[in-house]
Amino acid sequence: MKTKLFMAAALLLAGSQSACAQHTTHAVAHRGYWKCEGSAENSLTALQKAHEAGCWGSELDIWLTGDGKLVVNHDPHTLDGLEIEKTDFDKVTRSKLKNGETVPSLEAYLDAGKKLAPMILVLELKTQSTPERNAELARKVVDMVKAKDMEAQVEYIAFSNQVGTELIRLAPEAQVAYLNGDKTPAELKELGYTGLDYAHKVLKKNSHWIDEAHKLGLTVNVWTVNKAEDLQYFIDHKADYITTNEPALLLEMLKKR
Ligand code: MG
Repeated sequence: MKTKLFMAAALLLAGSQSACAQHTTHAVAHRGYWKCEGSAENSLTALQKAHEAGCWGSELDIWLTGDGKLVVNHDPHTLDGLEIEKTDFDKVTRSKLKNGETVPSLEAYLDAGKKLAPMILVLELKTQSTPERNAELARKVVDMVKAKDMEAQVEYIAFSNQVGTELIRLAPEAQVAYLNGDKTPAELKELGYTGLDYAHKVLKKNSHWIDEAHKLGLTVNVWTVNKAEDLQYFIDHKADYITTNEPALLLEMLKKR
């Protein structure tokens, strides 16, 4: 009798656990939350706003300057036309963003982000002009994250497989996802990636990759998803992260679930 009761209780517990195990999609602000007052892409304000909005993570883009230092910017050029890879750090970091802030150093960005833990920083390493500079960028970013003791608060993404595999080698415990959309989940697993981070059109065309990735233990991130119907599609298809320029809309939709 006791055994039967125990079995019944165990079954009940297992049933209730599976009923509760709802999949969670996390919101990642693409270049921070910049579509709001006083903000701009990849600015320190955008990072702060992503945190205030309640995002799980905030994405940023990293370049290596001409004199080998790390800055946060999306384009290869600053707004006033400086080519980052060919310009010294001091000059790049005096260049203005759209909201009047200057181009942040990665150091300033990480310091600000550390205060916003546990929000995750999704570090995109931009593809540099030479393989040597790609390797230098990966090494310097990983070193800086380690020096600041922020390994658990960052994830890495890259379009370049050279950069991605270098990150995997340098930081074997880190989460590293590939952006370029041209590799299957099985190929990524084989290379040592922990996830894929593909354009929404690529993932819609290959929607079976989401399940395949999950079965291989890979995470699924998707960019840059801005329309309500597309956000809903990837919530329904159980993406782990959605990278968006509309984090407030996504968070609102996630709350209603
Ligand atoms: Mg990016």
